[in-house]
Amino acid sequence: MSYKSPFPLLDATYETLQKAAVEDSKLRVAHSENGDAFWPSAASIVCNVSSKTGYVYEKVEGTCLRQAAYKMLRVPETDATSPTSMRIMAIGTVAEDIYKEWFHGVDGYRVVFPDIRGKKIRFNSVFNDIRVRGEVDLIMEHIETGTRFGVEMKTYEGSIAAANLCGPDAAKEVHKAWIPPDYIDDRAPFPKIQNLLQTMLYLQEFWKDGIHLWKIVYAARDKGPDATFDVTLADINGEKVAVVDGKAYPEFTLSGIYARYSELKKHLDSKTLPPRDYVPEYDPDFLLTGRISITHGSSNPRSVVAHELWKEKLDARAGNPRGKKTREEIYKTAMSEFKADWQCNYCSFRDRCVNETSDHSLF
Ligand code: SF4
Repeated sequence: MSYKSPFPLLDATYETLQKAAVEDSKLRVAHSENGDAFWPSAASIVCNVSSKTGYVYEKVEGTCLRQAAYKMLRVPETDATSPTSMRIMAIGTVAEDIYKEWFHGVDGYRVVFPDIRGKKIRFNSVFNDIRVRGEVDLIMEHIETGTRFGVEMKTYEGSIAAANLCGPDAAKEVHKAWIPPDYIDDRAPFPKIQNLLQTMLYLQEFWKDGIHLWKIVYAARDKGPDATFDVTLADINGEKVAVVDGKAYPEFTLSGIYARYSELKKHLDSKTLPPRDYVPEYDPDFLLTGRISITHGSSNPRSVVAHELWKEKLDARAGNPRGKKTREEIYKTAMSEFKADWQCNYCSFRDRCVNETSDHSLF
């Protein structure tokens, strides 16, 4: 018989945390008001991309419009944050604060904001009738040249994030793990798109103040390497596009970000539910039948694409000479795991979203 402690401290802790998470989510809902403005962290964009086998499709990068709509309309969360996620977030906040403190002591640089009293700089922009409001992490100055730049501080963990942020070789060296190629972004090392879009908005707003550079700094919460990216904007064919570490990426445009905010606004104004940008549950039968049920989003083009890509990824694994499993075994495992887009696995409205009666139902 396995031993049971009379004082199950950890179990009691998790239960307490879970209860606190439910209360916290109610509080978050009550305080999530940002007036008539959108959050910069809710930025997203649609890009035309092609998969590794040449399948061309529209890919949403960044926040799901449906999730953003739930938040803005203060719909109660259905999926309380787990104790594990709470731990990760708490460690992330502490790690970010440590770095921000370190930046105050760097020779040759000065932290301009937050200022000596801790006052942060507000971000409040209106463009094409869309208001975006939030708070930026840091504005720093290179003392000798007087150059000012912004800093967005983030943390991450795990070998796959390390591969995407720092490059597969750096990740492999530290984590001593083989990372399946289909998990690695073709552009790696590259910042998380959502963070990139956010800094593009900041740059647009503070450009006139002489701030033409925004650094995104990633600190590893585990043994992984840290990473940093320099972001600025360039004019290409009349569009303001992202430039990361000196290279322009024409697929990431400011107009593309605002188009998504406009789409979200349209849904909020008309009280309609945006279609799912991601898939909270793949239809397991799709692997065998090639068909998607209505409840799994057969009428939503993004769901159809996600299923195609899912199959493509599994087929590539089956065809990989390093792999030891047959296609049937790979399909069987995938079908029993109830796979979803990773964005949905972290969504606080997942249960609500899955149970909405249709893709475009009214709130
Ligand atoms: S579960 Fe997925 S599709 Fe649904 S709202 Fe959340 S992120 Fe969007």
